[in-house]
Amino acid sequence: MDLFSDDAPAPPDPAAAAPPDPAAVALHEKALVVHDRLCEAYGCPIDFFSTKDPLSELVSALLSHRTKNADSGRAYTQLRERFPTWEAVRDAPTDEVKEALAPCTWPEQKAPRVQAVLRAITDAPETDGLSLDVLADWPVDRARRWLQAFKGVGPKTSAAVLLFSTLRRPALPVDSHHHRVAQRLGLIPPTMAVGPSHDALAALLPLDWDAQTVYDDHEALMLHGQKCCFWRNPACGRCPVYDLCVWPEKKGRGGAA
Ligand code: SF4
Repeated sequence: MDLFSDDAPAPPDPAAAAPPDPAAVALHEKALVVHDRLCEAYGCPIDFFSTKDPLSELVSALLSHRTKNADSGRAYTQLRERFPTWEAVRDAPTDEVKEALAPCTWPEQKAPRVQAVLRAITDAPETDGLSLDVLADWPVDRARRWLQAFKGVGPKTSAAVLLFSTLRRPALPVDSHHHRVAQRLGLIPPTMAVGPSHDALAALLPLDWDAQTVYDDHEALMLHGQKCCFWRNPACGRCPVYDLCVWPEKKGRGGAA
């Protein structure tokens, strides 16, 4: 038989031939049930908290690394008050930027890092000067990879820039609360770190979810971690996803561990 003739049988498509993995299907379904129940509990749709442009969101996220929100917020405000534009921050003497960032942790590291990222964005062939507006038209994966090539930008920051900023793109950030809840519910393995959990948790969400629904998913899991599934002494007795939790240390409904 001529393998290249029209009569030759088509080679099997491995993806089409492979039966769906029941465990993977069950995990996707579980992620949707978690989403629905926590959205019900925490009132989705949830208003976007930020109206920053993407460049401002990026700087804000860089300042927030390992810093309390209130402190990084004060540092961001001081930076904006002292310098009229991001170009002015980029071109200022680093000591002046460091002074403005005094309220956040490690201003001596964050000042040169912010300035280096601002310079790199300015010089990038893809951008029109110091702006991230180009990311509005890129596929989310490409935009995240591009952002993560800058020193200090990891998966949480790249997702935050795309989702929280006025770009409003469907990228899933994972903070420590979101991560803890996902681990206890068995959506990710108990040993998976925050970094790789971004891809693992995003892969559980439907591809056609819009930015609001992805935002709701992140916010609902985060709020559950903040308001119920505490790091110490979680309030399992009033947990809306109690039956889905696989954490061996979860407390019985009567309060006992
Ligand atoms: S049952 Fe307890 S540990 Fe499990 S998700 Fe709910 S609050 Fe967290």
